[in-house]
Amino acid sequence: MNQIKNLILDMDGVLWRGDVPMPGLAEFFETMQQQGIGVVMATNNASKTPQQYVAKLAKFGVTVSEEQIFTSAEATGDYLQRTYKPGVKAFVVGDVGLVTAVQSRGFQLLSVEEVMGGETAVFVVAGFNPNAVYAQMAAGALLIHKGADFVGTNPDLTFPSEYGPLPGAGSFLAFLQAATGVEPVVIGKPGPLIFQMAMEKLGGTPQNTAMVGDRLETDIAGGKAAGIQTILVLSGISQLEDVAKANDLQPDFIFADIAEIAKEVADNKLSFGQR
Ligand SMILES: [Mg+2]
Repeated sequence: MNQIKNLILDMDGVLWRGDVPMPGLAEFFETMQQQGIGVVMATNNASKTPQQYVAKLAKFGVTVSEEQIFTSAEATGDYLQRTYKPGVKAFVVGDVGLVTAVQSRGFQLLSVEEVMGGETAVFVVAGFNPNAVYAQMAAGALLIHKGADFVGTNPDLTFPSEYGPLPGAGSFLAFLQAATGVEPVVIGKPGPLIFQMAMEKLGGTPQNTAMVGDRLETDIAGGKAAGIQTILVLSGISQLEDVAKANDLQPDFIFADIAEIAKEVADNKLSFGQR
């Protein structure tokens, strides 16, 4: 019996495709609420804020709170908060979203000038930056070289665009790693940290928490690394032939889509939600 009480949901390929909601999206959230199942959305995408995801879901008739949206920027902020003392010196190689996540948690943010003037930091945190400048990346590399911890938001090397794949957060981390020889602690999928922290937010345990995702090599791999239950939906990237080929990435459950999960939950077929 799998007494799932908490679900950690990937979004694209699970809740929607681009700007098109999956069939039964609003009903899915209603069913989870009726059955008392806690829900958090987790994404590697740090370029949108939780408010923007709340607004997108509202457009599809779904009400969630900002606390239920866990982006890799938010997860990184939480990781830094639990790992470092408030007020320690830090440096951000990234855009305004990451700067806000670090500043709002009480860390002392160094400027490029302070770093070039000889200041040292306890940690450098890096992520995607569409406004990247060499001086900022150089300052980050100098600090890591001097011994600052190196933390990254997510490992995605590229992201899709209308022009083709463009450099993502992982490419920025690779730049700093190449320059320093230091490997970052990476928060996003397929690492376990984002799922472990989402589970803690839900007050769940590995036995009663499942992740729902559409990609074996990120979602299912991350869920397994975190030691939680894994559910693959076939409404996105990975299909049954991929599962057949993926020896060590077998999900605990496979469903066509979230509508099928909602039906199973409502029928108590998998004892979802039962104590
Ligand atoms: Mg996805």
